[in-house]
Order: sequence, then C-alpha cells, then structure tokens
Amino acid sequence: MYVAEGTNVCSCGNTGCLESFAGQNAIMAASGFSQDSPIGNLFAALMRNETRASKAVASAADYLGLALADFVNICDVPTIVLDGLYSKLFEYLKEPLLLKLSKRVLSSKWAKINVLKSISTSNSVAFGAAWKGITKFIDTPSRWKKQIKNKLNYYPITDTPSVTLSE
Ligand SMILES: [Zn+2]
Repeated sequence: MYVAEGTNVCSCGNTGCLESFAGQNAIMAASGFSQDSPIGNLFAALMRNETRASKAVASAADYLGLALADFVNICDVPTIVLDGLYSKLFEYLKEPLLLKLSKRVLSSKWAKINVLKSISTSNSVAFGAAWKGITKFIDTPSRWKKQIKNKLNYYPITDTPSVTLSE
C-alpha cells in the first residue's frame, strides 16, 4: 500500500510502500540496528526510552495510521486488530494510531474505531482464513453431504469435494 514518496525499495519492488516506512526492517534501520539484528534489541531500546527507537516506532505508527485510515475510509471496518510485530509493539502504537484514525477517518465523529492487540501468537491471518473456511464448510452440509440416493451415503475418496477458502 502506497503511503508516501520514498527511496527505500520495498520487498515488492516498489518504493513508497507502507512496508518500506513501517515494516520491521524500516523500524530497525531507523532505530540504528542492522536488519539481521535481533528484534529484542529494539524492545530493549524502547524499554530504555532511547530516542532513536522511540522516534522510529512513532514514525512507523504515523505511516501505519495513514494506511489504516485510508483502509477504514474505504472498507468501513469498526475494529483493527494488530498482529505480528505490531502486536508486540501494541503499547507504543495504540494511542498514536487512535489519534491518527480519529483525525483521518471520515466517520470517526460518529463511529468509534477500536484498535486491538491480536490474541493469536502467530499466523492469525492464516488461522482466521482457515477457520472461516472450515465454519462455512461445516455450516453448509449440502456442499459435502451426498445428495443423491446411493448405496454410499458419503463421497468415495476419489470424489471428495473441494472447499474454497474464500467468501
Ligand atoms: Zn511494496
């Protein structure tokens, strides 16, 4: 997602992407750490209130807030759940994000926007997609239960229905 003019090349090959301003590599570099430095160094620097790390995370929050505000303006979602690195940085991101969202989201005067920390420990997007697909599959037995009268009341293994993990 494009957020601003930039010179750092994103992993997608473009410049100006959110990741190149607020991704882990960008935050580490702005904090003065190499990209292969353990992420714990960043958290230690934040715990010590080191200016460079604090500014790096504040800058990331600013760009993340810009991107999220655009997303909320388009998709009108009431809740944002931070996962991954952003979940670990939640205490540093929540207030700046809420401030940015209240300024930039068109409906913020009438509808509260929640910023929450993911309770998942990892891969919440994949788990969420899988969960949604599984519940949809279970909720619609007509998709997987044999409808025609047959000796078998189930699909033979060679005729297993496929499930699409999408809306
Ligand atoms: Zn990109």
